[in-house]
Amino acid sequence: MVPRQSPKEGQIGFLYLPPIRVQGISVAGEQTAVGIPEYDIVFDIGLCPRPVISAKVLALSHTHMDHVAGLPYYFSQRYFQKLPVGKCYCPKPMAEPLQAMMRTWVALERQETPFEIVGLEPGDEVEIKPNTFLRAHASSHTIPSLAYSVVEKRKKLRVEFSELPRERIRELRLAGEEISNVVDVSLVAYTGDTEPAPFLYHSDFVNARVVITECTFFDPEHQDKAKIGKHIHVEDLRSLFAVWKAEHVVVVHASRRTMLSFARERLNDVAGSRADSVHMLMDFRANRKRLELQSLEFDSGEHSDVSSENNEIG
Ligand SMILES: [Zn+2]
Ligand SMILES: [Zn+2]
Repeated sequence: MVPRQSPKEGQIGFLYLPPIRVQGISVAGEQTAVGIPEYDIVFDIGLCPRPVISAKVLALSHTHMDHVAGLPYYFSQRYFQKLPVGKCYCPKPMAEPLQAMMRTWVALERQETPFEIVGLEPGDEVEIKPNTFLRAHASSHTIPSLAYSVVEKRKKLRVEFSELPRERIRELRLAGEEISNVVDVSLVAYTGDTEPAPFLYHSDFVNARVVITECTFFDPEHQDKAKIGKHIHVEDLRSLFAVWKAEHVVVVHASRRTMLSFARERLNDVAGSRADSVHMLMDFRANRKRLELQSLEFDSGEHSDVSSENNEIG
């Protein structure tokens, strides 16, 4: 007998949330890697799907296998493709074991694969692009873990000068007046695997344009499982959706056993009026439909360019 079909290859989840793309694969216990090409970053590296290899920065939330297994492949492939050395940030206690693992891989491959692994503590931040920083947050999982935000430090005109004419502002600046201050603009926040914890109410999460959140359990009877595994249950999202101002929330880390339609129903319930802004990375059908609509709207000229915000002075 001839088999009916070949095994299906893992499909890449994809969302266009202007001005960024969120792409990758995330299935609880199997693999999670979520990339944002615009910021040259990938969060976690479960099995390293090809599109995330090009990300120069890798932010590891923790070292469970489904989040870290692709790490040696990532470094090795970047070397093979003659890309600059990738930079992996991880929870501080895991930096040494990860470096030891990479040293073993270097010995196994008999190839001098360069790698850079840097441990971070909650509150640490590193510049990943000019004026754009990766900031670590204290998440709470069963092993050392971090959540992350990507924050742009933007110079803004101080409020007391906002009404003045341009010419006057120029004069003040030339006279040495401090006319601007630096404000944090939280571009994206990523929870990693975590139980509900205070960091989820940090201003970087409250104000992020896009929040990428794990949600592993959807069944009302699985609240205990969520607690034991230190994961987010869909019911936990209710209070978070009430405070997160994000234009878009991307839900990742549902398990293979979760029925998409059921998960969607539960998400709609806890999201209430903002259900339209909540997406599931692995809901291929909904996301494909959304993308088609986006391109239809674009073609018919209904799109509006992202206008620059007021009082911005570069
Ligand atoms: Zn996981
Ligand atoms: Zn985990």
